[in-house]
Amino acid sequence: MVSPRRRTTCRACGHAGFAPVLSLGTQSLTSFPLPGQPTRRGPLEAVLCKRCKLFQMRWTYPGSWLYSWYGYRSGVNPIMVRALRDMAERVVELARPQPGTGWSKLCGMQWVLDIGSNDGTYLRMMPEGVGRVGFEPARNLQPQAREGLTLLVDDYFSVSPLRKWISGYGKAKVVTALAMFYDLDRPAAFLRDVARVLREDGVLVIQMTSASGIPQERVAALDEAAMLLSDSIGVSLREESAALRMTKIAAINEAGINIISTLDLLRLQKLVATSACLIMEAESCVIRLLDAATGKYAIRDFYGMKAESDQKDLFRMDKKAVTEVLKGASSILVRDVAEEEGWKEFAGIARTLLCLPLKSDGEIIGTVSIFDKFPHKTFYSTSFNNDDRGTFEKFIRYVEKAIGNAIAFERNDRLKNLDEATGLPTLKYFQGRLHHELSRAKRFKRRLVLMICEVTPKLTGREFAAVDRGEIVVKRLASVLRGSLREYDVVARISEWKFGMILPEAEDGRMSAIPRIKKAIHTEVEEIRKRIKDVRVDLRFGHASYPEDGDDHEKLIFKSNILKM
Ligand SMILES: [Zn+2]
Repeated sequence: MVSPRRRTTCRACGHAGFAPVLSLGTQSLTSFPLPGQPTRRGPLEAVLCKRCKLFQMRWTYPGSWLYSWYGYRSGVNPIMVRALRDMAERVVELARPQPGTGWSKLCGMQWVLDIGSNDGTYLRMMPEGVGRVGFEPARNLQPQAREGLTLLVDDYFSVSPLRKWISGYGKAKVVTALAMFYDLDRPAAFLRDVARVLREDGVLVIQMTSASGIPQERVAALDEAAMLLSDSIGVSLREESAALRMTKIAAINEAGINIISTLDLLRLQKLVATSACLIMEAESCVIRLLDAATGKYAIRDFYGMKAESDQKDLFRMDKKAVTEVLKGASSILVRDVAEEEGWKEFAGIARTLLCLPLKSDGEIIGTVSIFDKFPHKTFYSTSFNNDDRGTFEKFIRYVEKAIGNAIAFERNDRLKNLDEATGLPTLKYFQGRLHHELSRAKRFKRRLVLMICEVTPKLTGREFAAVDRGEIVVKRLASVLRGSLREYDVVARISEWKFGMILPEAEDGRMSAIPRIKKAIHTEVEEIRKRIKDVRVDLRFGHASYPEDGDDHEKLIFKSNILKM
């Protein structure tokens, strides 16, 4: 049950100290009772705040008593219509809301918001093509109030009904509070909410009335008040975002520790993409890393909700940002894709974008881009700004270190199993793979061929050669072997002059692969002899196949090591 509330603190400054001014006892409310319903009555008292000197009513009456049935329509009185037209013209001149390109597209929208829009008379005076949005709780006004409006919320003003709307069309260009501001019980909270739905370059119009007009010195005072008001709203929004930023930086430091300690590159990429989205409140993240073999910046990870068909568009957009970063831009921040020159073609794919390079020793080793910002606890998208860029840069510093670590770790790991001269795997790797391939061959009942090739270069004299010609021979033969095998065959350098090969699924292995490999090696030796005259290469081969020559590791190794010319 709602009932009138006696205020103990000032509506404007919150001070608890009123000086009584006037008390007229119990009076009827200025509401519009339905026929047969009693007129509500209550105390009428006026007080003065002792601190800020705001003259105000002592009692606050429930909104439902006053506004659910509102008997006064703006359009009913020609004087009021004229006054509203005058107001509308001045607002349009001041704010210049631009007509949108259409309501079906999420671009080029501009809209105005009227709080307490009554029967919509004022909103209908706004230019064609500008979105007209109203809040009006009075039920009896609804049919007329909707006419010519783009959106009518049949309630008191609050931010939440606009969240989805703002995510599509951005914030309001103009907010008007006509002949209603003085009815508010919490004007400061109202202004904070207005600040949440108004563009940075938006205009707020608050209409106050005075019987005798406003004298010049009062206008000057109002100017000052407006300035203070916008300052204090700015400060409170900044405080809010500063608090948020501190939380984000704490989250970055925490995520950073996780990231730095992850040495597996694949896992690291996933972790970076999800952490970037969580911390930056982004919807999607694209990570690219330099592929040393192709010199291209290939997409290594994507995190986000986008369907596969939309991902392509997002990747195209990312490519543009990455290209600019590679050309030397230190970062790319696109606040509003629909409004920024050169980005308009991507309107509707993402609203906002932030892209930073990953550097290592001054070289760009990759990029991280985030798209669409959905602030915590809200459902509407906003734009990335300079603060976000600063925060994201802090995060990226961790990512650079972590990726550098992971790449170095992977390289070391690979080197441990790789022969330095030939780039082929070593004996340790070969043995591991043989076990693995043999159990696979058994499981799938496939033949497997194991082959050993011994290459002994015989060089005459020349003990103090500038280059190790023996190693040159081995290197060239290694590359010939690799080239004559299939992609999934294994070749390793298992000792100084021996190569080991595993040919899985070698159904015709005995018949064709072995002579073919032998022939390739012989041809290469002929080539080498043309260049290095005094070289002789002794070649010996051995092979074994599963299951014919044995069904375990030892038997196969034994058989394949019986080497023949
Ligand atoms: Zn006060």
